[in-house]
Amino acid sequence: MKPATFDYHRPDTVEDAVGLLAEHGDGAKILAGGQSLIPMLSMRLAYFDHLIDIARLRELQGIEHRGQELWIGAGTTEAKVGADAQVRQAVPLLTRVTPFIGHFQIRNRGTLGGSIAHADAAGEYPAVALTLDATMEVLSPRGRREIAAADFFTGVWETTMAPDEVLTGVRFPVWNDRSGSRCTSFRAAMAISRSPARWSRWRSTTMTGSRAARSACSVWAPHRCALPRRRRP
Ligand SMILES: Cc1cc2nc3c(=O)[nH]c(=O)nc-3n(C[C@H](O)[C@H](O)[C@H](O)COP(=O)(O)OP(=O)(O)OC[C@H]3O[C@@H](n4cnc5c(N)ncnc54)[C@H](O)[C@@H]3O)c2cc1C
Repeated sequence: MKPATFDYHRPDTVEDAVGLLAEHGDGAKILAGGQSLIPMLSMRLAYFDHLIDIARLRELQGIEHRGQELWIGAGTTEAKVGADAQVRQAVPLLTRVTPFIGHFQIRNRGTLGGSIAHADAAGEYPAVALTLDATMEVLSPRGRREIAAADFFTGVWETTMAPDEVLTGVRFPVWNDRSGSRCTSFRAAMAISRSPARWSRWRSTTMTGSRAARSACSVWAPHRCALPRRRRP
């Protein structure tokens, strides 16, 4: 199948992207790597009159230390995150989970910001952001604001970002040398995002891990949960 027709916009700045979002309202959507959005459009699970392509915006790309945190631009590809030496040293959990994301063609185009904004319950980066208490930076016509990961994800494919907000970057705390991280892959549940019960189980498991991380100086990041398969009602 092919997507329904849409107008394609390629703004030169993030401010222009925000302006286009505000101008076109509910009929507009940000396009980053397209690895989640385009399949949904192609299957006609979603429809937008305007797509605003932010993939080439340089100000949304990059990885740098900012104080005790590592800032990663929302437009940075998953491949770059997975290969970056600063990430490996400062936020090794991101390095560990990245190879689990799809396959390399997906990671070459898919972005960290796209994955987090999409908020798929089966996604690796949302789980890491929650587990490590990351901070999301967003921009809208009302200005910039920050959202803690615990306040950002509200459900399957749902966040507290307003429709006219653009995620510009994510800051991950840099844990000290006495901390550690680990991820375990449970291959059972790619369809995890279809069930709210599974989502809440996934989320509580992740949050439990986050609390354990603070007390035990180790991170438990269950980015897939092994739940028994259920028949649909
Ligand atoms: C075959 C396949 C397998 C995959 N397997 C996995 C997997 O195992 N694990 C995993 O985690 N992911 C997986 N993915 C998803 C992949 O990680 C996507 O790249 C990611 O979810 C979305 O990133 P994107 O840059 O492509 O975003 P897009 O598809 O362009 O956008 C996704 C959504 O986020 C919004 N958005 C994007 N960027 C921003 C922004 N900066 N501000 C505000 N809103 C924004 C868009 O409007 C859209 O609603 C898979 C995808 C495919 C096609």
